[in-house]
Amino acid sequence: MQEACEVAVVGGGSAGVGAAIAAAKTGARTLLIERDPFLGGDLISGLPILGCYNSLGEQIVGGVAEELLNECAALGSHPARVFDWRTLWGVCVEPDVLRLAIIRLLQRYDVDLLLGMPVAGAAVEGGAVGCLSLCGSEAPIEAEFVVDCSGDAVVAHLAGAECEKGGPDAQFQPLSLVFQMGPVDFTPLLEFVRDHPGDVLLAENPVIRKSRAECARALHDAGYPYLALSAEGDLLGGAIEAGEMYPCTAIFMTPASLARREITLNSTRIANVDATDSRALSEALPVLGGQVQTCVDFARRRLPGFGEATLTRVAPRIGVRETRRVVGEHVLSTEEVVEGRKSPDVVAKGGHHVDIHGAGTYQKRIPIEGGRSYDIPLGCLIPRGLRNVLVAGRCLSSTREANGSARVMGTCLATGHAAGVAAALCASRGSSDVRELPVDLLQKTLRDQRAILDGTS
Ligand SMILES: Cc1cc2nc3c(=O)[nH]c(=O)nc-3n(C[C@H](O)[C@H](O)[C@H](O)COP(=O)(O)OP(=O)(O)OC[C@H]3O[C@@H](n4cnc5c(N)ncnc54)[C@H](O)[C@@H]3O)c2cc1C
Repeated sequence: MQEACEVAVVGGGSAGVGAAIAAAKTGARTLLIERDPFLGGDLISGLPILGCYNSLGEQIVGGVAEELLNECAALGSHPARVFDWRTLWGVCVEPDVLRLAIIRLLQRYDVDLLLGMPVAGAAVEGGAVGCLSLCGSEAPIEAEFVVDCSGDAVVAHLAGAECEKGGPDAQFQPLSLVFQMGPVDFTPLLEFVRDHPGDVLLAENPVIRKSRAECARALHDAGYPYLALSAEGDLLGGAIEAGEMYPCTAIFMTPASLARREITLNSTRIANVDATDSRALSEALPVLGGQVQTCVDFARRRLPGFGEATLTRVAPRIGVRETRRVVGEHVLSTEEVVEGRKSPDVVAKGGHHVDIHGAGTYQKRIPIEGGRSYDIPLGCLIPRGLRNVLVAGRCLSSTREANGSARVMGTCLATGHAAGVAAALCASRGSSDVRELPVDLLQKTLRDQRAILDGTS
């Protein structure tokens, strides 16, 4: 048996990074266990961090997420706040700078790391996880509290907690492999957008009181390519019809580096694969790799500004949008999300629209009323039937539609922050059940750490 830690965080994606930093900041001896030999998950794939702002542009996530972005700025790469004139405010950061910022913060707060080590078992006694067993010959880990940030709810599942998976008929949002191209000439690309509003996803949230043409012009005038080339437009739609491109909703583009004129492209997809099945996940990789090549060829041939661009980077792993959701003390409902409801038990906020990708060109998008934000109550982070486990990130307790909103990285950082602080407070109080933690103490600590719990629409 290894030396016991107070808080073990399983999974080092956005939620796990948030949880580990928060638990250590709150004073707990913290161990972060990650299956991959690197940290950050999709944070380092070059996607925009969504959910830090609602559609009105109000900041709704602070705390650890803000600290991470400040660390990027300290490293000389200033995060850019960008708007797509559709519904989203995103934050763009150079992925490798973010990778360094994560390492620096974990080191600053003295988080112990165990990388390249999948958790394979959870010994449960009286509703509490006593120790976590690891793959290979590594000794088991004893922890007073465990924060499950595995995306797949691995610990909760191994410990026997109730979980749901995908949709009612085994639907799963698509797997995607995200990649970058550069250098892209932004001027012809943005001129194309200005002159072809029908080719771009625009003005989806009624809070944007502009026509599509006005939005296209605003996107052009902003000067950065944060946009979605739509399958409903002639350019991409025509290519799909001609078999030159695979069916997809859009090619979502984000500036990964303005300095290098590098753009992240998110369009590849295979729907309805259960990513907790390693064999099925593995079979998807060559198909996704083929789609990357198809999209690169299409971009170079047809997309304005891409003529000189080449493939510069492929995300380190397949992006997984959806697997298990824990059934918790509170299940975040679709209505709470869409109506932007508030809760006295708030520990984090979300503001992303319900965003469920499907097969082919299908994507369900429901804007949040008035462009507001919703509260995530503490109960969404507490799996039913377990005493010393919290969950955060995309496996939090939520309906499938609510999860289609709360799964974005800004929200995952915020729920990770909340779960990490909650676990550390429970450890310092000698609690035997996370339910003993007064929510007002958790909220006070979160506010002291600059988390945003109040004052947003
Ligand atoms: C293609 C795609 C595009 C997206 N676009 C955006 C976007 O533009 N903006 C946005 O904000 N969000 C986007 N999202 C959503 C977002 O990226 C994810 O939902 C979010 O990153 C999930 O974070 P997480 O920490 O909950 O899970 P993950 O990032 O999946 O992290 C879980 C971690 O746990 C580790 N793990 C799993 N099992 C074990 C185990 N047994 N032992 C140890 N470690 C384990 C994994 O290796 C992983 O590192 C996108 C997602 C995808 C797939």
